[in-house]
Amino acid sequence: MNPFLNPFTGFPFLRDFLTDPARLRRLSQRKLDEYRNKAFRKAVVYAWNVPVYREKYRNQGITPDMIFEVEDIQRLPFITKKELLDNFPDNVVPLGYDKRKAQMICTSGSSGKILTFYSDFLTISKAVTISIRELQAYGLHWNTSRIAHIINFNPYQVNEAINQGFVSHARTFSLLQNHLQLNPFQPIPELMKQLDDFKPDAIVSYPVTFQHLAYLKMKGNGTHVKPRILFVGGYVLDPYIRDYVEQAFGCKMVNVYGSAESGGDISFECLKGTWHINHDFYHIESVNKDLEAVEPGKKGRIIVTRLFGRGTPMIRYTGMDDLITLEPVHECECGLCTPSIKGVEGRIDSTIVLPDGRMYPSASFSIMSTILNDLKTNKVRQFQIVQKQLNEIEISLVFDDEQRNTAPSVDRIIETVEAAYVKMVGPLVKIIVKEKKEITSEEGKPSPFVVSYVPRDKIQEMLDQLD
Ligand SMILES: [Zn+2]
Repeated sequence: MNPFLNPFTGFPFLRDFLTDPARLRRLSQRKLDEYRNKAFRKAVVYAWNVPVYREKYRNQGITPDMIFEVEDIQRLPFITKKELLDNFPDNVVPLGYDKRKAQMICTSGSSGKILTFYSDFLTISKAVTISIRELQAYGLHWNTSRIAHIINFNPYQVNEAINQGFVSHARTFSLLQNHLQLNPFQPIPELMKQLDDFKPDAIVSYPVTFQHLAYLKMKGNGTHVKPRILFVGGYVLDPYIRDYVEQAFGCKMVNVYGSAESGGDISFECLKGTWHINHDFYHIESVNKDLEAVEPGKKGRIIVTRLFGRGTPMIRYTGMDDLITLEPVHECECGLCTPSIKGVEGRIDSTIVLPDGRMYPSASFSIMSTILNDLKTNKVRQFQIVQKQLNEIEISLVFDDEQRNTAPSVDRIIETVEAAYVKMVGPLVKIIVKEKKEITSEEGKPSPFVVSYVPRDKIQEMLDQLD
């Protein structure tokens, strides 16, 4: 059944759709705090029915009736990515949860470790009401402004979940016809031609894709591509790329920051440059390596609590691996009064570039989650992709020791990964897949998921030849 027509999902969605986007502007701080406290209590009660959480709470002698407001979060234990991985599938959802009605979602693996968890229509649709709020902040309309999405749509991933679980149903009512999805992995000149035909008001993509589109735009391509705003997600925007792209397209570029686990954007950058936290939907903390709170203005690791949704709860989740600087509630020139994030570290965009002009921003190499799901294994604990030269890519896999001897075998996984990547990149590139004991990283930082040793000028040289 189309979930918009189902009264159990259609009405709640309509309510969210009408009330969510403007909440941060509409409610006073006091009302907003009340809203957050209520949402938080509800999230904790929900988590109490989820075995992995219940066991941890019990071990600390905590029950939901001891939790009254968001500040009480200090009493709750943290949950790690590993705990959620180890307890998948049965213990990461409430007892008796009907998984057939749920959607399985994988993280992109941008830290090289994939987490799989459950979500559902109303939880996924929050990502949509959050996007509507963002569009409004930039003077755009969700159903009339022309929006091009040049992002990854792989099976099991969050964008595809939104697509399948939401957009496809909305389209049956002739809604969202103003959105165009483009494959980011086609040659950049092709992409520019499609944008030129579509004439977008806004474009959503990765920094590197914008960078190469900007290069073509500077050279005079895409004369009808005159967006009012560019959205960057998934990665930190390098100031050099930002200046270059803004100059090429003559409009602002803004960051949105979320993850698969958060189920929507945690934060979005307003036109005054503040990364506002959607704090009616998330409670964000920042901690040091001993998991102690870091004072505002100092750098720490992000801890995420999702204040909405069902499926697998995320309460004091430590697995996002990003380093952030948290700023307390303050009034921004744009009129919003929220806590904010001052920069995110740890998501440095690296790109795989193929000799035929296709570009894969790092998250898009996550066909790994598709491969591993198809093999029904979670034995690969971590992976890393290193482009050594334009025509040579090395993929390292770290296997879970405890599961080492379970099927499918390590050899079969390596062969399957190799075959899938060979198919993806084509005959011009050599793919080497290896097992590694561990993937090292700089102290306090997640290991990069994609590393490229191909210099930037080499990429532009290649684009020139293709153009
Ligand atoms: Zn602002």
